[in-house]
Amino acid sequence: MLTLAETNDAVDPALAELSRAFNAHKAAFASDFNPSCSERERRLDRLVDVLNQNEDKIVSAVSKDFGHRARMETMFGEIVATIGGLSMARRNVGKWMKRRRVPTPLHMRPGHSYIVPQALGVVGIIAPWNYPFFLALSPLAPAIAAGNRVMIKPSELTPHSSDLLKEMITEAFPDGEVTVHTGDVELGAAFSSLPFDHLLFTGSTAVGKKVAEAAAQNLTPVTLELGGKSPAIIDQSANLEKAARSIVFGKSFNAGQTCVAPDYVLAPRWIVGAVVNALGQAFESMYPDVNSTSDYSSIVSDRHFSRLTALVADAAASGATVIELGNNASLESRRKMALTIVIDPSRELALMQEEIFGPILPIVPYESVKGAIDYVNAGDRPLALYWFGDDADRKSQILAGTVAGGVTINDTNWHVVQENLPFGGVGASGQGVYHGAAGFETFSHMKPVFEQSRFTNTKMLQPPYSPQTEKILNFLRRFI
Ligand code: NAD
Repeated sequence: MLTLAETNDAVDPALAELSRAFNAHKAAFASDFNPSCSERERRLDRLVDVLNQNEDKIVSAVSKDFGHRARMETMFGEIVATIGGLSMARRNVGKWMKRRRVPTPLHMRPGHSYIVPQALGVVGIIAPWNYPFFLALSPLAPAIAAGNRVMIKPSELTPHSSDLLKEMITEAFPDGEVTVHTGDVELGAAFSSLPFDHLLFTGSTAVGKKVAEAAAQNLTPVTLELGGKSPAIIDQSANLEKAARSIVFGKSFNAGQTCVAPDYVLAPRWIVGAVVNALGQAFESMYPDVNSTSDYSSIVSDRHFSRLTALVADAAASGATVIELGNNASLESRRKMALTIVIDPSRELALMQEEIFGPILPIVPYESVKGAIDYVNAGDRPLALYWFGDDADRKSQILAGTVAGGVTINDTNWHVVQENLPFGGVGASGQGVYHGAAGFETFSHMKPVFEQSRFTNTKMLQPPYSPQTEKILNFLRRFI
């Protein structure tokens, strides 16, 4: 089993507890590695109950961690979205668990073939700070539906949320079923070095690489849910008012601290002015006074606030036009930052190199659809891509010409909560998928079984080989 305990016991009790918990999960799985459908349903129900019972505490914990988080954003982004995934798993777990018959080629009949979904064992989930409940619990739903034991490591940047998550999970699940392990980066590193049967990491690309490296030492398969620069492409056929409202909503929700938030806008050069006006009007109609509204969230930490203001200062110094849709000076003490538009920034700027992860919206002009496609493809594969318009040909050109983790057409962010769609990144924005049935398969071994028929005579193909064997092989070749 695990040796982490022996090496770390004297050094750090938190690390020793990690290895104790891992061994407890392993033992629990070994004693029941195929939980019944009703048991899995009970576990999913418990999770829904504990979320419903702790609604107010969740709203308050997230708000304390952020400085301020709009109540509706937490209700939507942490509670409703998570329950959506849990309900989907609860409704379908019986169907997902069933063996799946697959066709058997003529030359292998009357044998038959099927796939048996099987729990993997102990699954690890590492979650980031931006949606501390949703990003810990939405992978948990398919992981427990698949029959696994699960250990969760939440972010140290949201301590109130992480402590509450631990309290809720401890109340809902016995040791060895689901546990939460709070701690800093050191604990995260130790967590990712545990020999899990699967590890799902959500967070930055830089840390994702370290997690993948640690997991590789144990040949632990990883799902990496990372970030990136997700473009919102406005076509000349778009309804600008609607497009602007969708982009502003996607970018301002949680103050832009959303992995799939539109990172920047690509707009035909000749309508950039109209796009900026529409964005301004949309923002002002949703947040008439950023200073006094409780609908607008804060930036999570001083470090992130300084990082964002430096991105804007750097862009302004380079000569790009910066438009603040509110008075940022009066908001600084509460780490609030009104949506800030940057027109035509140079690609060399940090603003256009890094994932922004905050309420800054660069507008990049393009001359042709090909130009927009080339701009997207010159960067890393984005996690999400948005396209606004009515022109079917240009929509197809963009869909066929770009590679992104997921797409919403004529809106932003919604594909994430459509649980029938697999969710995940591609290239630098991640690998592997979860949500719904795709999540169930990620956390299962889809075991292939071929069952030979007693009427099949394979002896004819066994040694000693003869000219007769070759004749049979030649005959079989006609059917494959
Ligand atoms: P992060 O990578 O800094 O941290 C994520 C988690 O990893 C935290 O729990 C942290 O404690 C842990 N960690 C840190 N160092 C570690 C190490 N060496 N080994 C193991 N674990 C370690 O990310 P963050 O700042 O919390 O989150 C923001 C990033 O997450 C953004 O890039 C965003 O795009 C991305 N994100 C992606 C998704 C998605 O679904 N694809 C969702 C939300 C956020």
